Amino acid sequence: MSKRRYVLAIDQGTTSSRAILFDATLRPLASAQRPLQQIFPADGQVEHDPEHIWADTLAVCREAMETAGIGPRELAAIGLTNQRETTILWERRTGRPVHNAIVWQDRRTAPLCRELEAEGLDLPIRERTGLVVDPYFSATKLAWLLDHVPGARAAAERGELAFGTVDCFLLWRLTGGRVHATDASNAARTMLFDIHHQRWDEELLERLRIPPAVLPAVVDCSGELGATPSSLFGAPVPIAGMAGDQQAATFGQACFEPGAMKSTYGTGCFALLVTGERAVPSRHRLLTTIAWRVGGRTTYALEGSIFSAGATIQWVRDGLRAIGSAAESEAVAASLPDSGGVHLVPAFTGLGAPWWDPDARGAILGLGRDTTLAHIVRAALESTSLQTFDLLEAMDRDLEAAGLPPARGRLRVDGGMVANSWLCQDLADILDRPVDRPAVIETTALGAACLAGLAVGLYPSLEAIAAAWKVERRFAPALDPARRAARIAAWRAALDRVRSTPRD
Ligand code: ADP
Repeated sequence: MSKRRYVLAIDQGTTSSRAILFDATLRPLASAQRPLQQIFPADGQVEHDPEHIWADTLAVCREAMETAGIGPRELAAIGLTNQRETTILWERRTGRPVHNAIVWQDRRTAPLCRELEAEGLDLPIRERTGLVVDPYFSATKLAWLLDHVPGARAAAERGELAFGTVDCFLLWRLTGGRVHATDASNAARTMLFDIHHQRWDEELLERLRIPPAVLPAVVDCSGELGATPSSLFGAPVPIAGMAGDQQAATFGQACFEPGAMKSTYGTGCFALLVTGERAVPSRHRLLTTIAWRVGGRTTYALEGSIFSAGATIQWVRDGLRAIGSAAESEAVAASLPDSGGVHLVPAFTGLGAPWWDPDARGAILGLGRDTTLAHIVRAALESTSLQTFDLLEAMDRDLEAAGLPPARGRLRVDGGMVANSWLCQDLADILDRPVDRPAVIETTALGAACLAGLAVGLYPSLEAIAAAWKVERRFAPALDPARRAARIAAWRAALDRVRSTPRD
């Protein structure tokens, strides 16, 4: 038997860089993590230092291997997952970035997005890339770099510069500058990639004046992508898996079949519904995205995001000082029979899908003389379930419009917030579907490990990965239908009070 029995998963996130070692049974053995410095050059602007990202990535890989006592010759492969959309431009000759990374949260390209909309490009962009026109995606960030870094456009036209999202930049660095490639799931977040024909869209490149010479090759999410030079870890290690963080989490949750879905509850919440080989267009402002491409076959998903999930609990803790820790919210919510008619709409930074209302602001409604802080804590948790309901309802409506049956299956959940069992039960109640919490909660890193392990044969098949996925606890819906309907109706009425645009 080969000595190469472990996979090293790199999870380069917005606020930290992590590495987790998994064994051949998909069990996590050791991990290491470093926080990432956030750079705020001006209001609405967020940057990262790519050299910092690289140094931390190397450091956490070495630390995880050292902690587990596993050497490079025991690694079957490296799998890579990353914060998505964040944009880096670097010199091919030196590998040096010409500017800090522009992070997905950065809003500096809002005026360019408005121009694209005014030119009527929102429809073709939606049709070809599956995305809504927004500064969030990489396209306008890359255009900004080419416009604002002195000499960048001319250098790009001469073929001297390389563009990539964080996966692509790390792959370049991990292969000693030999491979310039991104995977299909990350390419799908650039707003430059035609997700149906699997190619960069020439018309969009032209409109944004992006020279094709800067673009990476687009490859499968699972396959031999390159190898590290011995100088990095002491021996070459193949890099064999790559996917954006939410797509990797979907893979790590073994959501392989059409209709399978997962929802991740961290600061915000991201729900992905796998639609199989069909790219389902959204009429409800969800995103159509590539979940992964394996063996040349593309699996698509519908994606919806909520801006404030765990962030609402942070606010209740730090802003309102109603609880001492996020974990305390569980006992407080469980101590009450209901929220006493209180609703909290956490539109602190506007509302995400399916409303997309950047101008809405948060509100607490339904206060009475008997309202206490505990009611507000409970309403804060309930808002997470109710926002998820809105997302899943939009998904069902999109499926229906595409002539597909609604996704009535289980919801697999992960992220820091699902440690809260009261919340998981409330999700099952409001969604009226079972909610599964997995045994391995690090689903993002797990997904990257699975994609890599699959490519090198350590994990033989999707079926084997699905069989290894284990549930830690199942939550079955148990709420009386009339109470459920009343809660949803009251939530929608509260939403109507805060939305800046009229009801759809
Ligand atoms: P991120 O990856 O976005 O930083 P995590 O997945 O680490 O987020 O989750 C942290 C978030 O989860 C925080 O916003 C925190 O408020 C929330 N959280 C953590 N534990 C609990 C809990 N027991 N109940 C409710 N919310 C929680």
